[in-house]
Amino acid sequence: MSNVFHRSCHGSLPVAVGGEGVYLIDSTGKRYLDGSGGAAVSCLGHGHPAVIEAIQKQVGSLAFAHTGFFTNEPAEELATFLADRSPGTLNHVYFISGGSEAAEASLKLARQYMLEIGQPKRCRFIARRQSYHGNTVGALSVGGNMARRVPYAEMLIDVAHVSPCYPYRDQGPGESDADYVARLAAELDAEIERLGPETVLAFVAEPVVGATAGAVAPVLGYFKAIREVCDRHGVLLILDEVMCGMGRTGTLFACEQDDVIPDILYTAKGLGAGYQPIGAMFASEKIYGAIRDGSGFFQHGHTYMAHAAACAGALAVQKVIEGDGLIENVRRQGDTLDAALHERFGNHQHVGDIRGRGLFRAIELVADRASKATFDPSARLATRIRARAMDEGLVCYPGSGTIDGRNGDHVLIAPPFIIRETEVAELVDKLGRAVDGALADAAA
Ligand code: PMP
Repeated sequence: MSNVFHRSCHGSLPVAVGGEGVYLIDSTGKRYLDGSGGAAVSCLGHGHPAVIEAIQKQVGSLAFAHTGFFTNEPAEELATFLADRSPGTLNHVYFISGGSEAAEASLKLARQYMLEIGQPKRCRFIARRQSYHGNTVGALSVGGNMARRVPYAEMLIDVAHVSPCYPYRDQGPGESDADYVARLAAELDAEIERLGPETVLAFVAEPVVGATAGAVAPVLGYFKAIREVCDRHGVLLILDEVMCGMGRTGTLFACEQDDVIPDILYTAKGLGAGYQPIGAMFASEKIYGAIRDGSGFFQHGHTYMAHAAACAGALAVQKVIEGDGLIENVRRQGDTLDAALHERFGNHQHVGDIRGRGLFRAIELVADRASKATFDPSARLATRIRARAMDEGLVCYPGSGTIDGRNGDHVLIAPPFIIRETEVAELVDKLGRAVDGALADAAA
């Protein structure tokens, strides 16, 4: 009997006791290939000695000093490290404990910016239906993950949602990328006009969609067009790189591949790679400067922000990733993974799409490839795949269809950046058996 209040109140979970490289080990000694880094978290794998040593050393000298009174060395060093590598003027880095806190900080920073520049009527956010931005009330409000929103719908803030960029299902047959982009940009433009541009604060999106639909990358040109619409109306652009950031897609920041620089960007998972809980929000000079020269104080904060041990852990992670050239490995093994997924699932009658960037990949499952019909939710395919994969000794991250029930179930693959070719082959092999086993279970 567990006294830990886990997400599920039913069933027992294996007890994780250790980890080595891309593998996790439970209390029976069973090994699991961590094919999704949990939920795209463990980008450096498990048990990395340099990271463990850095955290131990930091805790030995200073674990915590409240930011109301002090700054600390690892926070300063990590902020400089990140600012030196961030796009544009996103040089002002605010540390919190995870993705949802980063989302809340970003929404509130955007609002305070509008107050500082004398536009107090701007208080509406626009986001996309295919999105997840966190589970706290503000973050959940901007998110479009219906399953997670529904129980709390009445208590959420009123956010407008527009279409995502979802080429597999939404790009018309024969529609060029340019026409598709123009259509989506026009939709955002119309939504801003409908709400009244003077009331709109920011547009929020994940550059590559994670948990809601599985590694959905936009067509090139999409974010550039979105940025232009936002600029035309004085609306800020906030990008959520909690899952897709910190090298996961083959560049340190996913938005670098989309030729766009947001006003505010936030990230989390891969930053500390699971060794410590940490998230970061990046503010551009325009945003930071308005607050510095205005009230001089961001009206927000959390007890554990810029936590010294968390920052020391994240700094060690980021130095290893850079020092060992692991983002190059993301690109290289990302191509290997993509090829292996196509080889295994390219002709699979229930795999409609294989997509993603770098080591952020997914397959989308369909009942019928030609019509792209989804499986009925009662088939509980995602749950079955998760269970079958765990039996196989594979951690992957399946999700069920969520944008208005229109997209199919998917499986997200996001292995550690240290993965090798033989491990990619093992991953896809186990995934193939898990998917086929789950489909057989659902049909039985
Ligand atoms: N944004 C995105 C894109 C995410 O994937 C997640 C976590 N799945 C969050 C925000 C929330 O992060 P956290 O769970 O650390 O609060």
